[in-house]
Amino acid sequence: MTELLYLTDSYLREFDATVTAVDGRAGTLDRTAFYPGGGGLPADTGRLTWPGEETRVTEMRRDGSTVWHVLDGPVPPVGAAVHGVLDWDRRYGVMRYHSALHVLVGAVYRLFNALVTGGQIYPDRARMDFALEDLNKERVAAIEAEANRVIGEGHRILVRFVSREEFETSDLTRLAKDLLPAGITEVRVVEIEDYDAQADGGTHVANTNEIVRLRVTKTENKGKSNRRLEIVLEDPGD
Ligand SMILES: [Zn+2]
Repeated sequence: MTELLYLTDSYLREFDATVTAVDGRAGTLDRTAFYPGGGGLPADTGRLTWPGEETRVTEMRRDGSTVWHVLDGPVPPVGAAVHGVLDWDRRYGVMRYHSALHVLVGAVYRLFNALVTGGQIYPDRARMDFALEDLNKERVAAIEAEANRVIGEGHRILVRFVSREEFETSDLTRLAKDLLPAGITEVRVVEIEDYDAQADGGTHVANTNEIVRLRVTKTENKGKSNRRLEIVLEDPGD
């Protein structure tokens, strides 16, 4: 089992860990800050170093509660103390886009009461699919305006953990089909303070003002009642 450090600290860029198993070009650690991918978010990349050696982490694999770091270079031995470093610019981009999508989801839910049917995040763009029948220019403009209002207001983004019971009796999902795996007793909730809260396992920025501003670049018809929105963010400092 790997301790997932990003669940409580998305801003951890470096960490120390011990190698617990090796399999070919992949290794597991007792703890990691690398996001293993999933939930529409790409896996982190970066590097591991140990005395006299350095290797790239190019991919991640999830195997139950263990995550594997796929290495392009030397493989450290079991028991080695390693230092992990994330490719931070890439990860921070993913965090900004992920939080932006949560704002977008909150906006679409408030404006049109529509749930999410899918989505994908990249370090430099993102898209989200909604159970919507109609998405005209006016609606897109309203979604964009509502999302940017919230982003500009500077809401804190907080992580908390709730019981399965609390989750099942609450309104903490915006997914059209949300299946909580059996055996899960605690659910991680990401809350945009005073706006939206959703069960979520990914990495986020700490405040909506880090998103800066979003723009809807494309809409697409993905079925009778399924509409896709693509967004890009303005860079900090633009
Ligand atoms: Zn999410």
